[in-house]
Amino acid sequence: MRVPWRGGAVRITLDSAAPVMLIPLFLLIAAHGPMMSVITFSFLPLFLLYNHFLFLKLKPHNSFFLSWTITSTVLLFLLLWSFSGMLEIRNDEFFVFLLITTAALYSMNKVKQKEMLSFVSEDQLLDGGEKCSECSIRLPPRAYHCTSCNACILKRDQHCAWLNCCIGQHNHFWYIMFLIATFSQLVLYSNLILTTACHPFKVIGSIMLPDDCSDVYFDLVYAVCFVSSIYCIEGAAFVFSVLALECWLITLGITGHEYRNRSKRSYCCGLIMSRPYSKGFLRNWILFWKGADISYQMYKI
Ligand SMILES: [Zn+2]
Ligand SMILES: [Zn+2]
Repeated sequence: MRVPWRGGAVRITLDSAAPVMLIPLFLLIAAHGPMMSVITFSFLPLFLLYNHFLFLKLKPHNSFFLSWTITSTVLLFLLLWSFSGMLEIRNDEFFVFLLITTAALYSMNKVKQKEMLSFVSEDQLLDGGEKCSECSIRLPPRAYHCTSCNACILKRDQHCAWLNCCIGQHNHFWYIMFLIATFSQLVLYSNLILTTACHPFKVIGSIMLPDDCSDVYFDLVYAVCFVSSIYCIEGAAFVFSVLALECWLITLGITGHEYRNRSKRSYCCGLIMSRPYSKGFLRNWILFWKGADISYQMYKI
């Protein structure tokens, strides 16, 4: 499909257009009652998991999950913006949400922008390094091949389907920032909606939690807002699990690629295993915060 755009038509593939229609459709179906919500949000993770393996097999470099991420982020913002008056969401609360959404989109853009920097370049090739069987080049330490990108990536962590790019040495920091911003956005959204659409009660100070949400399904707008907050809770649980694993791996001084390809003689989620590049828990974090270029020098033996 071609869409007219400034400077020429833009080609939109079916996999990138599908989430724009599917996410609102899922929310509308879920808004039809408690039972439909339970069915929809039980089915959704299975649907995404199935699509993940299907695309991995048929089209590893697809835009489906990236489009899903962007559509979710923008849709949540539009929903809160449209109904903040009706739900009596304060301006300062909306402003914080706007800041976090901007941070999520900015870090997402940085991850994509810096992806190419992690691709192994000519000047980084080592004569005595391990040979990549696909690219037939000698690699520097901690560079691994990505079958989706068909390239070797410095300090490869993973190929993130949700951003449709490889996470490596130069964009790992922004990937963690993206996870933190996305998690914060999802938690704040669900809290703002649940404490306004439902009957809230005060926990401490201005922190509130929802009490009774039984009557939200009587009005379609309230129902859509409510189910979108359930969608956020489900998303936040997933993002938190990814973030927790990433933080654990940074602490251990290993990448996601090294963790997944660890030897069978590893115990306690990678705590007891060979970690030749680890500099100690604290130093691993210092190296991570200092940035990619400095930490890379540490691995150039
Ligand atoms: Zn390679
Ligand atoms: Zn890749």
